[in-house]
Amino acid sequence: MPENASADAAVIIAGGGPCGLMLANELGHRGIATLLFDDKPSTSPYPQANATQARTMEYYRRLGFAEAVRAQGLPPDYPTDVAYFTRYTGYELARYALPASGRAREMVKTLSGSWSAAELPHRCSQLYIERVLHAEAQRLPSVSLRYGWRVIGFEDDGEGVTVEAERVAGGGRVRVRGAYLVGCDGPRSFVRKTLGFAYQGETASRDFLGGRMHAIYLRAPRLYELIRAPRAWSYWAVNRDRRSFLIALDGRQEFVFSTQLKPGEEDAVISESAARAMFFATLGCEAPIEILNHLSWTAGLTLVAERFQEGRVMLAGDAVHLFTPTGGLGYNTAIEDAVNLAWKLAGRIEGWGGDGLLASYERERQPVARRNTGYARRFADSIGGYVPPAEIEEATPAGEAARRGAGEYLNRHARAEFNIPGITFGTRYDGSPLIIDDGTAPPADDANLYVPTATPGGRAPHVWLPDGSSLFDRLGPGFTLLRLGGKTDDAERLASAAVRRGLPLTLLDLPLDELRDVYRSDLALIRPDQIVAWRGNRLPEDIDGLLARLSGGAPLSRAGTP
Ligand SMILES: Cc1cc2nc3c(=O)[nH]c(=O)nc-3n(C[C@H](O)[C@H](O)[C@H](O)COP(=O)(O)OP(=O)(O)OC[C@H]3O[C@@H](n4cnc5c(N)ncnc54)[C@H](O)[C@@H]3O)c2cc1C
Repeated sequence: MPENASADAAVIIAGGGPCGLMLANELGHRGIATLLFDDKPSTSPYPQANATQARTMEYYRRLGFAEAVRAQGLPPDYPTDVAYFTRYTGYELARYALPASGRAREMVKTLSGSWSAAELPHRCSQLYIERVLHAEAQRLPSVSLRYGWRVIGFEDDGEGVTVEAERVAGGGRVRVRGAYLVGCDGPRSFVRKTLGFAYQGETASRDFLGGRMHAIYLRAPRLYELIRAPRAWSYWAVNRDRRSFLIALDGRQEFVFSTQLKPGEEDAVISESAARAMFFATLGCEAPIEILNHLSWTAGLTLVAERFQEGRVMLAGDAVHLFTPTGGLGYNTAIEDAVNLAWKLAGRIEGWGGDGLLASYERERQPVARRNTGYARRFADSIGGYVPPAEIEEATPAGEAARRGAGEYLNRHARAEFNIPGITFGTRYDGSPLIIDDGTAPPADDANLYVPTATPGGRAPHVWLPDGSSLFDRLGPGFTLLRLGGKTDDAERLASAAVRRGLPLTLLDLPLDELRDVYRSDLALIRPDQIVAWRGNRLPEDIDGLLARLSGGAPLSRAGTP
């Protein structure tokens, strides 16, 4: 193969969408040499995903840029309501009122139960968030970002991975060597296809959100004058002619609109004038608009790859799971893949992680991908499968009755799809070899209800501390032993054993009744991804055995050996 340059990195990432950029940030914060290739000139020019779930915001907070993300998108006083209409300038059918982003910081401190959290969701386009992820990664000295470069080949020889990339604009190829390659290269993943792993699952066909969709990114400076209803973050058109949704991006003039293509339109190349006509049909009138870009995409997918890893090559994000966008789970699941994988790669590269560490990645994340794609499908069935009554647009008593019935249905649907703490905080890794079961059963999985629990395998319950700080801000960058029942000698033994292994461990003393009540134990060991790995009132006799298990079976002799 031609070669005109070479470079080395511990981890090479193919793809710089949200997943690849988050992985680069996670690795860069740990000082791991990371090289990322993306075949676009820069971050995505399309709005794509529109909602950052609360758990993703907590991950951004861990890395110090949740505030930078929350400053993006709609103005801080713009409500993030979800509203349903016959057409956007027609009858309003239903509305779920949601707060403006400027209220999130103070509001999250007043919530409990399902919303016991360090962060609330942020309803904002991926367009803006990718720019923050990119800027943050670029600041990290161990991270190198190469946009405009496509990965075109790789070879895993058991000792490392040699990756070949070419400059998309022409003029060069490189061969680089890394300890690991991660394919974060999206739905058409070259890395996944080269490994020969197929997606498994189903592609549903529905009148709405189940087939070819057309997305239009547009500027419409007069839209708020035409839509007289109170402002919303997402507007849904529910009628028998053309269903669609419209998302407000900057609260002034930018929007993204998606509609399902009708039979006959699906295979056609959609011209700009055809795209305008589709938008005006669901707006209910014409308006001055500028189309910034438009493209077709497929909704109705519930697909998960059969494997997430082969040897030194891993896959993450859309490369291993494809969603229908209902619930806003595709991008968020991709971010959580990166968070789960990063500390395991670090464990191997830094020498404290055993063989089982990377194998646990697929074991933990594939069931989550199946769970989350399943939730997205149920939401898509609920909204996409709903057929509005034929009279819904009529100015008659029958039309009024039809709108009342539709409103009741849509109000119920909105509260199911857009209030999902159970999905966002309820990810669990039960049965993983890295989780030490304490015999207690976790609460049932429920999209709309999250019950904080320290049963090992799930997110560490969050609590605001008496000084107003977040428990999550006090956790260490590696593992944390939370001491809730006062100091114990064996905690010091654990700290010494961790030092012998080179395993990063922080001891955190917080003897607070409120925390002890939530965790229901004197001690809890929390992983770098804020998952409870073990809890108990006393550490086991074989403290080193506990650490070996949590670090993927690393023998003590491996410690400190890169
Ligand atoms: C029109 C549209 C609307 C969407 N709406 C929503 C939504 O409302 N809610 C939601 O949750 N999700 C939505 N999604 C999905 C969401 O955007 C994805 O889930 C998310 O982008 C996944 O992130 P990723 O990093 O895994 O993949 P991607 O964002 O696809 O990033 C992969 C990157 O890899 C690059 N790449 C590919 N091949 C190579 C190669 N060989 N070498 C180097 N680089 C390569 C690509 O250019 C791309 O930048 C939407 C997607 C689209 C297209």
